[in-house]
Parts: sequence; C-alpha cells; structure tokens
Amino acid sequence: MNVLNKADIKSLDFGQLSEVLQEMGQKKFRATQIYQWLHQKLITDFDQMTNVAADLREQLKSKYELNTLEVVQVLTSEIDGTSKFLFRLYDGNVVESVLMKYKHGNSVCISTQVGCRMGCRFCASTLDGLERNLEVHEMLEEVYRIQAITGEKVSNIVLMGSGEPLDNYDNVIKFLGMITDEYGLNISQRNITLSTCGIVPKIRELAELKLQITLAISLHASDNETRKGLMPVANKYSIEEILDACRYYFDMTGRRISFEYSLVAGVNDSREEAIKLAGILKGINCHVNLIPVNPIKERDYKQTIKKDVENFKNYLEKYRINVTIRREMGRDIQGACGQLRKSYYDKEKAEKILKEKEGENESIC
Ligand code: SAH
Repeated sequence: MNVLNKADIKSLDFGQLSEVLQEMGQKKFRATQIYQWLHQKLITDFDQMTNVAADLREQLKSKYELNTLEVVQVLTSEIDGTSKFLFRLYDGNVVESVLMKYKHGNSVCISTQVGCRMGCRFCASTLDGLERNLEVHEMLEEVYRIQAITGEKVSNIVLMGSGEPLDNYDNVIKFLGMITDEYGLNISQRNITLSTCGIVPKIRELAELKLQITLAISLHASDNETRKGLMPVANKYSIEEILDACRYYFDMTGRRISFEYSLVAGVNDSREEAIKLAGILKGINCHVNLIPVNPIKERDYKQTIKKDVENFKNYLEKYRINVTIRREMGRDIQGACGQLRKSYYDKEKAEKILKEKEGENESIC
C-alpha cells in the first residue's frame, strides 16, 4: 500500500499556493499560472506546465506530490447515459463518482469519504463502516478526472456519493472554496448541493459561512421513531433539532432547503406519513425530493410501488409542499450510493478466497 510522503499540491488553495511561491521568491502571476494548470487545465504531471521554468518545476516536485485518480472501471447506463466511475486512490482504496447528463448541464456526484460510519439501514456505503476521510485533492480529482476523461464540461456538483460530507467538514469546506475558485473550474455555488443525514451542529456552522449552496437533508421519515429505525444518527439529533437548524440555514443564506425522502414500502410511505410530513415542514421554504428506495441485496427493504409514490406526492401537494419524484439515474449500473464499490470489494474478496483455496489444493496435491 502506497503512502503519500509529501502533501499533494492540489490540496493548496489559491492563497496557500501564492504564499508558497512567494517564499520561493516567485512573482505574483506565477500563482495564477500554476493554479490554472492544476485546476483548469487539469494536468497530471508537473512537466506539463510548459510556461513554468524547469528549475521551478523541479523545486515543486521535490516538495509536493501531484496525484491523479486511477480509473478502475467505468459503467455507462444504457437507459439514460449516466456513467459511474470507480477510482483507485493512492493507498489502494476505491471510491465511486457519477456523471449525470441533464438538459441544464452535466452534474457530478462525488464521494466525500471512503465508506461511511452513519449506518443508514438502506445504504450500501455504510455496510463496512468508515475507512477514512477523502482529502481535498481527492474530491477535486473526482470532478477533474471525469471532466478530463469524458471531455464533458462539469457545471453542477452534488455531494451525495459515499460518505457523510459534514463528517469530513474541514476538507469539504476547502473543496467547496476551490471548486468555485475563479482560477479553478469556477463552478457557481448555486450549482452545488450538499446532502447530509442531519449533523445539527455542523449544519449551523455551515449556515454561518453564508454560502449559496443548496443544503439537502436526508429526512426519510416524519417522526423520530420511524427515523431511528432507518438512520442511527436519529438517536443523536431529533427531527425538531434538524428542522430548527434548517430554518437557521435559510435565515443565514436565503437558500431553500431540499429534503430527501427515500420511500420504503410499508415503512414510511403511507398516507398518514405524508400528512405528518406536510405538517412538520409547514412554514419552511423547502422542496421535497421523493426517492423510491434502491434495494440493496444485504437488506430486505422493498421499493414503494409507482402508484403509491404518486399518491404520496399528491398528498404532499394538497398541503402545498413543493415535491418532485427523483428520476432514477443509472438503475442498470448499480446507481445507489456505494453499490459499485461494495460489489468490487466483494468480488476481490471472493477471488482472494478462491486463490487461497486453490493454494490449499495445490499443497494437498
Ligand atoms: N451522507 C449523506 C450523503 C450520501 S447519500 C446523506 O445522508 O445525505 C445521498 C442520498 O441517497 C441520501 O439521501 C441517502 O439517504 C440516499 N440513499 C442512500 N442509499 C440509498 C438507497 N439504497 N436507496 C435510496 N436512497 C438511498
């Protein structure tokens, strides 16, 4: 397993890079030039900086790494063109990211952690727990490699892949600053959505930054008991505390809150649940996104049938709640959070066991 000995240069934000170069006795414009090579032209080797003197390139090489994510697998949906990328990190871990093509532009869904420790019952990302946080350069690379490989300009980012973004708060905030930097990809804050299972103190901290990003809350239930059955984090923070933090977020940023509600047959999809949901969301400037749960083989949750999803939507609309049903992207390519990574590890494990077994047989023979 490789270990990163030096810091990765792509984890330096514009201010930090400027300082480093100033200390090296470089003129101011060098920072812009080098930042653009790294974060706009998306180079993978220091020597691609053709307008930077060789001795400065050598100095940078001696101090920093320039890592890129290695593509392990790309799956493209035949239904809607969504592509799922499995990337290998420098330490051998793998993460997945997704490119979704919409009329309004291309959106990349990134992972923020290797695995997850939140334990949501229906989610594949959390089955093996948390391995580690993703570093800033790794989250940037998820977007950069997809743009570089496909040639598709990325205009929207969703932090909805594996991991809990607010559990990797500092790196995620720095990532947001860099992905929106005018000398980087310059993605508008308004085109970024951060999804959280509801870590209340961090939602409040985020609100105080007054960013213009959309906050999405994985609510999935309208009462604490049902929510506890689906999401262990509900034992720590109640729905009331989460909704208070959402009101605070709206007051600080003026941004409408998005609530995600994964519909699980017989668990949270009844008429009563819909009416309760409308009740608790009353007065909050928000939008509800209904997601028919994507069943994973490790759990026996069933998807709500289409008609009941429509009914749930209609009940909410009766109470004047803005609601949409999320289009299922990439259903044929293990579209849900962490499924591809999980099946990759399962396959690796199975192959390892098989090899060991073969080894045993050889020694017996
Ligand atoms: N940790 C963050 C972001 C990652 S998951 C969060 O909890 O919001 C992104 C969204 O997909 C969340 O709403 C999550 O609850 C939902 N999700 C995960 N696995 C799912 C599945 N199998 N079916 C439906 N929704 C799922």
